[in-house]
Amino acid sequence: MAGLTAAIQLSKRGHDVSVFEKSRGPGGRLSSKRVTDGAVDFGAQYFTARDAGFRRFLDEYAGPGTYGHWPARFVFQRKDGSRETFPQDERFVGVPRMTAVSRALSAHVKLQAGTRIRNLARKDSTWDLVTVDGDRLGPFDRVILTVPPAQASDILLESGLADLAGRIERMAGSLLPCWAVALHYREPLDPGFDGLRCEHPVFFWIGNNTSKPGRPSHGQWWMLHADPDWTREHLDTPAEEVFRKLKEAFSELADIAAEPDDWLAHRWLYARSEHNDRPGSLWFADHGIGLAGDWLSGGRVEGAYLSASDLVSAMVD
Ligand SMILES: Cc1cc2nc3c(=O)[nH]c(=O)nc-3n(C[C@H](O)[C@H](O)[C@H](O)COP(=O)(O)OP(=O)(O)OC[C@H]3O[C@@H](n4cnc5c(N)ncnc54)[C@H](O)[C@@H]3O)c2cc1C
Repeated sequence: MAGLTAAIQLSKRGHDVSVFEKSRGPGGRLSSKRVTDGAVDFGAQYFTARDAGFRRFLDEYAGPGTYGHWPARFVFQRKDGSRETFPQDERFVGVPRMTAVSRALSAHVKLQAGTRIRNLARKDSTWDLVTVDGDRLGPFDRVILTVPPAQASDILLESGLADLAGRIERMAGSLLPCWAVALHYREPLDPGFDGLRCEHPVFFWIGNNTSKPGRPSHGQWWMLHADPDWTREHLDTPAEEVFRKLKEAFSELADIAAEPDDWLAHRWLYARSEHNDRPGSLWFADHGIGLAGDWLSGGRVEGAYLSASDLVSAMVD
């Protein structure tokens, strides 16, 4: 979201921008995995659009048909098991999957996927980007890094920019890991919520993916996100064992006897930001290097947009 936002906003101002992405497609932590009857959202579960500019940006560049309101029953569960409803807020999701938004945004930028950047190399007053395969891309007048802080730090250190890496050292470990497991049930379940954020030894979040708008309804897909501490303790546990443990904990929490007939798992090393700092973005004008991303603007999808917008303003100034 941060990379696409910065690229679109700078292109709009007449700059020639190229985006390089290590994965096969854009989206990053806006992530959906295909399943037989559609797709399940593995990363961000929903997003807010409190900032009017974010809403306008989405309407103009992603299109109003690519996202919609998720009118779900959101519940917060405390350590002692007591539950209360979530604060009122408009919550949005991509339709028919989270990546519908990033796909649509990426149509406005020059994107080269499957390209992992290892370091930046100075060439006179410009930068080349060097890929892990040793290819050199460029020259570019300015470079924006919108990767998570640990990866930004690696790129800066590999580029001989230890002083800049030092500026983000404190934040480098600020993204928490998360095991995500999707379970499919042939018959719909009703544990009394569609989304549950909890203080729980195993879970951080449980959501009914099928209750989101535009999702097919052959049975139900449930998304389970493990608590960061639980994930840290199970980082090297095989996916099948993680699936079994989360499934059993879900059956107990939701008091259900049904067994899932399909499942998928993904381990996020960098999921949500634990920082509430909001420097917005970092612009190192002397080097022509900028940093943006959710971790610089309070975390979350909307934070990634706000951070990139903040950086573009600083660069244009
Ligand atoms: C499990 C989970 C649940 C979440 N739940 C929510 C939620 O409910 N609501 C919410 O608002 N937010 C949620 N988030 C957070 C939200 O997804 C992020 O805040 C937001 O998507 C971050 O966007 P970004 O552009 O800053 O970073 P990213 O999406 O991480 O983008 C960084 C991109 O850089 C690419 N990259 C990394 N290294 C390189 C390299 N060397 N070369 C080239 N490309 C590289 C990555 O592949 C990625 O595409 C969740 C995240 C996870 C993982």
